Amino acid sequence: MTEWITNPPPWPGGARCAVAVTFDIDTDSLIHLEHRDRAPDLVATTSWLRYDEVAVPRILDLYRRLEIRQSFFYPAWCMENYPELVEAILKDGHEIGHHGYIHENYNQLPADEQEAFFVRAIETIERMTGAKPRGFRAPVYNFSRATAGLLAKYGFLYDSSLMTDDVPHMVDTDGGSFVEIPGHWPMDDWPQYVHAPDFGYQMTVRSPEDACAVYRSEFEVAYEAGGLWMGVWHPWVSARPARLKAIEAMLLDFRARGDVWFPTLEEIATHMRKIEADGSYIPRRIRLPYYRQPIDPSFLPRKP
Ligand SMILES: [Zn+2]
Repeated sequence: MTEWITNPPPWPGGARCAVAVTFDIDTDSLIHLEHRDRAPDLVATTSWLRYDEVAVPRILDLYRRLEIRQSFFYPAWCMENYPELVEAILKDGHEIGHHGYIHENYNQLPADEQEAFFVRAIETIERMTGAKPRGFRAPVYNFSRATAGLLAKYGFLYDSSLMTDDVPHMVDTDGGSFVEIPGHWPMDDWPQYVHAPDFGYQMTVRSPEDACAVYRSEFEVAYEAGGLWMGVWHPWVSARPARLKAIEAMLLDFRARGDVWFPTLEEIATHMRKIEADGSYIPRRIRLPYYRQPIDPSFLPRKP
């Protein structure tokens, strides 16, 4: 048999693969970040971003039916503005991870501003949930050269922003290490569905069956090879009724295999630390950042 994944970790209970559904609850942070002055006039665009108020309870209902607990990533500004959604998520025992303060793009900010927003989000999450966040996902995957250092400095257990591998692995920095739980664009719902002229993002909208065909093909190889399957989705995108109905059918098919693990990302990261510590698995390690400064211009052709 072809070993599509060379170093799959042993999953708990002899499971063949791990399946995690993660939702990033961005609500209308994006509109203020990109169009602060125009935002009050962009009422229709704001209305579809605020569809999260309808969609999050529907996702929580689905998780109750499936009897699973999962991870949500939340810009802290959105938590402050929609506290009733935070309460509902916590009441059902789900995890809330750090997703920036107002969905800021970390790789477009000076280092001191990155740290200020990063810390402001930690403080908000701690105040609203009673605990510091254990995990982080950079908004729009915009992990900067300073982000790994911040994660180590503030004691994060894991990150889920990179596209480094098919299974979780370790990231080392000068200040310590954390678990990376990698995703990739084919498992994100924006390329499948999002038609958003105000953000310059206009994909051809796919049917739920077409989108799930992409997700299902990723599952088949993860199941065969012992990998990780992780959706990176958004309530206002994937929790419209037809789309969430297709997702429920897909997750039920996965569960029917009988040997699939449905953890939160914190549970995955804790498991990775455990099997590393007890010697039952040697994870891949990478060192970040890849580059501390631009490469020497002598390696590149001169600009005309
Ligand atoms: Zn986001």
